[in-house]
Amino acid sequence: MATHHKKTFAANEIIFRQGDLGDCAYLIESGRVSVFIEKGNEEIPLKILGEGEVFGEMSLIDSIPRSASCRSVDRCSLIVVTKDQLIDRIKSADPVVRLLMKALLERLRDQNAILRNEALAPSLPGDQSVFEKQEALQKMSLENRLASALDEDEFTPYYQPIYSLKTKNIVGCEALIRWLGKDGKIISPASYIDALEDSSLILQAGQMMIDKSLRDLPDLISQFKNSDFFVSINVGGRQFSHPDFLAKLEESRNRAQVSSHQIKLELTERIMMNGPLALATLRECRLKGYKLALDDFGTGFSSLQYLTQMPLSDLKIDRSFTSRMNQDQKSLSIVQTLIHMARLLGLSLIAEGIETLDQLKSFEAMGVEMGQGYYFEKPMPIEAFLQLQSQVKAG
Ligand code: C2E
Ligand code: CA
Ligand code: CA
Repeated sequence: MATHHKKTFAANEIIFRQGDLGDCAYLIESGRVSVFIEKGNEEIPLKILGEGEVFGEMSLIDSIPRSASCRSVDRCSLIVVTKDQLIDRIKSADPVVRLLMKALLERLRDQNAILRNEALAPSLPGDQSVFEKQEALQKMSLENRLASALDEDEFTPYYQPIYSLKTKNIVGCEALIRWLGKDGKIISPASYIDALEDSSLILQAGQMMIDKSLRDLPDLISQFKNSDFFVSINVGGRQFSHPDFLAKLEESRNRAQVSSHQIKLELTERIMMNGPLALATLRECRLKGYKLALDDFGTGFSSLQYLTQMPLSDLKIDRSFTSRMNQDQKSLSIVQTLIHMARLLGLSLIAEGIETLDQLKSFEAMGVEMGQGYYFEKPMPIEAFLQLQSQVKAG
C-alpha cells in the first residue's frame, strides 16, 4: 500500500505516461513539471506547473488511465498524494459537490481526448455514479422543496411544555419546527433539519421560528400568569454564527414587545467550532439578558472545556440518557455526573424525553429542576397549548 512519501526526478524525466494506470497525484515541492498529450509521435504541451501545484489528481477521483503525460522540466521534488489520503474526504463531501467534481473531470478528459484526436468515451455510469446522481438529485430536490415551502409559509412552531418538577407547574415551553404540508401532513424535522442546516435555508427557517414564537409569547405569558414563563428556541450553528443573528433577534423581540429574560436559546457545542467569535456572541446574548441552554450535551464530541467556557444558564439532559438511565448503571452514572457538574457551574437542569413515571421520579429524587416529555405532553400547536391547565395532574 502506498504511503506518505516523496519522489525526486532529474531534469527531463518522465513522471507518468498517458494511458498508465495511476493511483496517486503529486504535489510539487520544488522544480517544474510539464504536462503534455502524446498524439502519434507528436507532443502537444498543455501546461507547465511549478511549486505548490498539483497534477495527476484526476486518477484520485476515479481509476481511469491517465489522459496526459508528465515530465520534469528541471530537477524536482514531488510529494505523493495517495488515493487513501483523499478517498474519505471525497466520500464525506456533499453529494452535489461530488457530482460536480465528476462532471468537471469528465469534461477535462473529453478535452484531452479531443486533443488526441480520439473518439470521446461514452459516459457509462457505473452503479456508483447512478447512486451518486440520485443522492445529489434527492438533495437538491429536497432543498428546492424546502425553499418554496419556506416562501409559502408552510413551517410553524409546535410547543412542548416544560414543567417545574417541584411544583408541576408549566414554567415554559420549547418551540420545535414543523412542516405543515399541503396535503395536511405534519412533518417532523428529522427528515429535513440536516438539509436546512447544510444550506443557508436554516437562516430563513430559524428567523421564522424566532418571529413566530416571540409573537406567540405574550399570549402564553398571560395564559400561564407567570412573568417568568419562557420560550426555548433551538438555534443552529450556521444561524448563530451569522453576523446579524443577535441584531435580528433583538428586532424581532422589540416587535413582539417581550423581555429577553423570557427567551432561552438552545444551542449545541457545535457553535463553539467558530472559536472566539461564538464566545463573543454568547457573552453579548447574556449581557442583553437572554438565557442560554446547552442542548444535546454528552451526545456529540463533548468537551468539558466548552461547558466551562460558555456563559450558560441551563443544561439539558439529553433524551438518550433519560431513556437508558433506569436500565443501565453507566447511563445513570453519566446523568448523576451531569447533575453534579451543573450544580458546580451554577446551571439549572432540564431533563428531556421523560416518558415514564419512573423516569420522572428519578429526576425528582436527584433534584433536577425542570422536565419535558411525552409523559406530560407532546409538542402541539399554539391553540392546543393555550388550552392546557397550568398544573399537571399529580403522577
Ligand atoms: P431536540 O432539540 O433535542 O428536541 C427534542 C426532540 O425530542 C423533539 O423532536 C421532541 O419532539 C422530541 N421529544 C420530546 N419529548 C419526547 C419524548 O418523551 N419521547 C421522545 N421519543 N421524543 C421526545 P423533534 O421536534 O422531532 O425535533 C428533532 C430535532 O430537530 C431537535 O432535537 C432539534 O435538534 C431540531 N430542531 C427542531 N426544531 C428546530 C428549530 O427550530 N431550529 C433548529 N435549528 N433545530 C430544530
Ligand atoms: Ca432542543
Ligand atoms: Ca436534545
